[in-house]
Amino acid sequence: MAERSPVSTIERLESEVRTYCRSFPAVFTRARGAWIEDDAGRRYLDFFAGAGALNYGHNHPALKEALLGYLASDGITHSLDLATAAKIAFLEALDQHLLRPRGMSYKVMFPGPTGTNAVEAALKLARKVTGRTQVVSFTNAFHGMTLGALAVTGNSAKRNAAGVPLTNVVRAPFCNYLGEGGDSLGYLETLFSDRSSGIDAPAAILVETVQAEGGVNVASPAWLRALAALAQRSGALLIVDDIQVGCGRTGRFFSFEDAGLQPDIVCLSKSLSGYGLPLAITLLRPELDAWQPGEHNGTFRGHNPAFVTATAALAHFWADDQLARAVTAKAELVRARLDKLAPGCDAQVRGRGLIQGLACADPSLARQICQRAFEHGLIVETAGADDQVVKLLPPLTATVAELEDGLDRLERAIARAVAERAAAPRREAVAS
Ligand SMILES: *Cc1c(COP(=O)(O)O)cnc(C)c1O
Repeated sequence: MAERSPVSTIERLESEVRTYCRSFPAVFTRARGAWIEDDAGRRYLDFFAGAGALNYGHNHPALKEALLGYLASDGITHSLDLATAAKIAFLEALDQHLLRPRGMSYKVMFPGPTGTNAVEAALKLARKVTGRTQVVSFTNAFHGMTLGALAVTGNSAKRNAAGVPLTNVVRAPFCNYLGEGGDSLGYLETLFSDRSSGIDAPAAILVETVQAEGGVNVASPAWLRALAALAQRSGALLIVDDIQVGCGRTGRFFSFEDAGLQPDIVCLSKSLSGYGLPLAITLLRPELDAWQPGEHNGTFRGHNPAFVTATAALAHFWADDQLARAVTAKAELVRARLDKLAPGCDAQVRGRGLIQGLACADPSLARQICQRAFEHGLIVETAGADDQVVKLLPPLTATVAELEDGLDRLERAIARAVAERAAAPRREAVAS
């Protein structure tokens, strides 16, 4: 894609590794709810929502008020993992609004502040507890960029940047990867029960219930339950990476609740602070808490301003099931609209809750749709091995009118991209 970025300072000073500022070449200044504004005063509907870090939209007033009050009172900002009033309030809110109502008794570990830190901690703990080294992860999985999390990630471009062998992982086909009827779990079961299969018993099975970066691949509840049973039979811990599709993205707070799973370990980050502040946690069954004090450490384990907004988000959105029900209703609206749009761009609709995607038969069309959408004031990003999926992640708090507005813009973008294809079929939009 030709770079049309007006941001010469960024081109001059920021590393070539930058990505999203290339896809969305504008200088952003302000944001509120589902809207983000650039320095020319243009407003965009944000259906990317920080890749799922802004489930409650930008700068939600209830969260902002809590944060401003905390800062104004000289509340503690940095504290390593000291006991602070903000941390205690967060743990109490988590227990009250998430764990107890669900009959869960997880202990909470604060790894570093990002998602990949939560995954590293989960992998390390699973290996420590089981004394095993191999971890099962899936085709098209995405778990983060540090070496342990990268080893369980599928994407070859990301893996190739590691510079060292990425090892101690058994790759298995995700739900429906082998097509309908392909029995990926039967294969694993056979491998694990055959002492001559050459596969060591795994420490853990790590899974996303919906592979978001991997192309909006949805695991069926039956597959997830069979996976959990397989993990149990093989003495492996079940780790759910709920970093992108947790925090209400699929309706209920945890994406695995619908399937009735009780993972041994759960990774959360992205929308956990609710305000776009970095915060990650690794939830573990109490029996697994084999850590020695300080054995896994870090300077930013628990960032107090993020605790404050996370606590406010839990109280505001998760004291009842209103948000979960709204997500389910809004998801139906989005889904119905995508079902109508899909045939016009030779795409297949996939998703659960408010993560929905259009998987285009022609991958470069997906990129072109996103570019045109941006010109129509809608921010949407692609996902998948070939960036072939237009991935919609609107804030869960977007109103019905905003959702319809965004889908109208998407419809116009699709019409333009398809018309351009028809006019100049050989013009490729992508060079990523
Ligand atoms: C974003 C993401 C991660 C990594 O989180 P970072 O904060 O980018 O380190 C891990 N797993 C999933 C499913 C994600 O979407």
